[in-house]
Amino acid sequence: MVAPAVEAPVVIGLDVGGTKIRSGLVDREGTVLAEREMQSPASSEDEVLAALDAAVESLLDERVAAIGYGIPANLERGTGRALWATNLPLTDVDVLARTRHRFGLPVGIENDASAAALAEWRLGAGRGVDNLLMVTLGTGVGGGIVLDGALVRSWVELGHVVVQEGGQVCTCGGHGHLEVLASGSAADVAARELYGDDADAHVLVGHAKAGDEAAVDALAHIGRTLGAVIGSLANLLDPELVVIGGGFGAAAGRFVLEPAREAARREAIYPADRRLRVVPAQLGPESGLVGAGLVGFEALDGLR
Ligand SMILES: [Zn+2]
Repeated sequence: MVAPAVEAPVVIGLDVGGTKIRSGLVDREGTVLAEREMQSPASSEDEVLAALDAAVESLLDERVAAIGYGIPANLERGTGRALWATNLPLTDVDVLARTRHRFGLPVGIENDASAAALAEWRLGAGRGVDNLLMVTLGTGVGGGIVLDGALVRSWVELGHVVVQEGGQVCTCGGHGHLEVLASGSAADVAARELYGDDADAHVLVGHAKAGDEAAVDALAHIGRTLGAVIGSLANLLDPELVVIGGGFGAAAGRFVLEPAREAARREAIYPADRRLRVVPAQLGPESGLVGAGLVGFEALDGLR
C-alpha cells in the first residue's frame, strides 16, 4: 500500500467587503486554488456572521490548516476584535475567537486594506522594500502601512483623513474626508455632474480613454487630491514606496497616478520630493484575497 502524499497546507482567505464576500483556498505562494463569491448581507450582524461561516464551509477540506480574514473594520490592537465597520453591520464582535472556536483552526484577522498591503509587500509591487504605504482606491479608500519591515497593526483609515475641514459629509459622518474627494464614489459624483444621472466612474473613465478633456480633468483632480494626502503622509512616515491598488485605482490608474505623483512630490519635504515612488499595485483585484490568505499563514506560523 502506498502512503498518501503529504500535501502542503493551504488556508482559507476571506476578503470581506461591503458588497461581496470573496473566499478562496490560498497556498503559501499566494496562488488562489479555488474561489467563491457571495453577496454581503447588509441587514444584521447575525446574517454577516452566518455568511462568513458559509464562506468557510464552502471551501473547507482536510488540507485547510488555517483561516485568514481581511475585513473592512477597525480592529482592536492585540485582540483583533472588530470594533466598528462603516459599510457592514459589525460592531464590537470577536470574529477571530468565534471562528477559531467554530472550526478549531488557527485564525488571523486584519483590516482589509492592511491585508492587501501585506500581499503587495510580500508578493507584489512592494517586494524587497521595508517601508511602504498602500492605498486601496475603490468605492471607498483604504490604507495599509509597512514600517521597518513590519505591517503596522493600527486602523490606518486613510479614507477618513480630513482634506477639507467642514467639507462634504462622508459615509462615516465626518466631513471633507479623502474618501469623499478621491475615490470611486467621488468619480461617480463627477461623472453625474458631467454626463447625467445614469453616469458613473466607469463611464467617466471611458470618456477619459476616448480623449474627453473634461473627464481627464476630473480624474486628474481626484489624483491631485490623493497625491496631496500622499505627500502629507510621506512627511509623516517616510515611505520608500507608495502602492496604489483597488478596483477604481486599477481602472483609472493611467489618469490618476501621474497627477497624484506630481502633487505628492510638491507637498513632500526634501528628499521625498525627489525620490518618492508612486506605483500601481501588481496583484490586481486578487490582492485582498491573497492578503487574507497570508494573514491565515501568519496565524498558522504563530506570527500573530
Ligand atoms: Zn469618513
